[in-house]
Amino acid sequence: MTFDELGLSADLLATVAREGYTEPTPVQSSAIPLILAGRDVLAAAQTGTGKTAAFVLPALERLRGQANNGFSPARHPVRFLILTPTRELAVQVSEAVKTYSRGIPLRSTVVYGGTRIDPEIKILWRGVEILVATPGRLLDHIGQRTVNLSQVEILVLDEGDRMLDMGFIPDVRKIVALMPAQRQTLLFSATFSDEIRRLAGEFLRNPETVEVAARNSIADNLTQVLYPVDQDRKADLLIHLIRRDSMDQVLVFTRSKLGASRLASYLDRRGVSCSAIHGDRSQAERTRALEAFRGHFVKVLVATDVASRGLDIADLPYVVNFELPYEPQDYIHRIGRTARAGLSGTAISLVSPEEVEELRAVQRLLRKSIPCEVVEEYLPDPSREPVAAERSRGGRSWSHSGRSAGPSYGNRSQLPTAAGSR
Ligand code: AMP
Repeated sequence: MTFDELGLSADLLATVAREGYTEPTPVQSSAIPLILAGRDVLAAAQTGTGKTAAFVLPALERLRGQANNGFSPARHPVRFLILTPTRELAVQVSEAVKTYSRGIPLRSTVVYGGTRIDPEIKILWRGVEILVATPGRLLDHIGQRTVNLSQVEILVLDEGDRMLDMGFIPDVRKIVALMPAQRQTLLFSATFSDEIRRLAGEFLRNPETVEVAARNSIADNLTQVLYPVDQDRKADLLIHLIRRDSMDQVLVFTRSKLGASRLASYLDRRGVSCSAIHGDRSQAERTRALEAFRGHFVKVLVATDVASRGLDIADLPYVVNFELPYEPQDYIHRIGRTARAGLSGTAISLVSPEEVEELRAVQRLLRKSIPCEVVEEYLPDPSREPVAAERSRGGRSWSHSGRSAGPSYGNRSQLPTAAGSR
């Protein structure tokens, strides 16, 4: 399918061409005609699938086509509202809106928590038709009467699954209550869970469903690999791999903010240029860290799951799971940052014997085992006791599979399989 067949008008097609998009992505081919036809849409599409353009382009087309109910153009009521769970995603979506709406007389802005509210108020007072917002900050504005949602024609809930995880649904409910019932609503989510379907039932009217890839599918051009290693040797193994494979642009996920800071300063001390983003950092610090990474001024960006939501880094070749996430679904979110738009990418997991449960959960979700590679000098020490926290959970580990001596490491590539089949 080509963009010309989707029903967008010439200037939007010119914008798409200027961005270098030669053909629509699957979610764009499916969703754009439905949105143009005014349907509510429930779409399963992860970041990296082109989902932002899939809702922004047809929404712009519709907004432009529709006269604004006789309201004075000077008042510029919000007509198109996009809610996102994180500020990073809000900023990225807002940048996409600016890009795609160039040349169209619709004004847009973005509001999100963690920054001063006054500059946002000034812009809102001047009037915008398109608003990108995180729910909490939008409620602050509603409380201060700086924004009026009574004229919203199109609502997008982006990354609905993450909104659920982050507990934003009560806020979303309050916001939706202030909008006209006669509106078009689009719900995008990385995956369809029962809860997402319930949300769709609550906020959408007779929606069309768009599911571009099989559930939990992983790009073909993404290589997954795991390295067994003791927890306290992971940082050194990471440095070894970065140097051995001359890696540039490595996004490293840790489970905790503290873990992220510690790892970042360790890498820095060992001469691997690095920055970090996590919830404790100010918006300005995060933006700086991200820019340093995007601009190739640092090799490594260390992030927590929450802080990294919606991060869009073009051509990211490596994602490293410094620890496996507690939630297997987060593994899919994390590795989805690489191997986008047909480029190849590698997702590396550093897995300690204590993480065998998490590994099993991830592999169950993937329905396959992750190939294992070993670096001899970093293999877990079989003589070690499992760490205390793990012992209390049953002490499952590769080096203690219920035997007093560790399993033979003679065939180490069997490790994940052995762990997975237990
Ligand atoms: P998203 O899934 O919205 O985060 O988009 C991921 C990336 O794909 C963004 O950098 C877009 O600029 C890019 N993109 C969106 N649509 C297309 C397309 N049809 N062809 C090539 N790249 C695209």
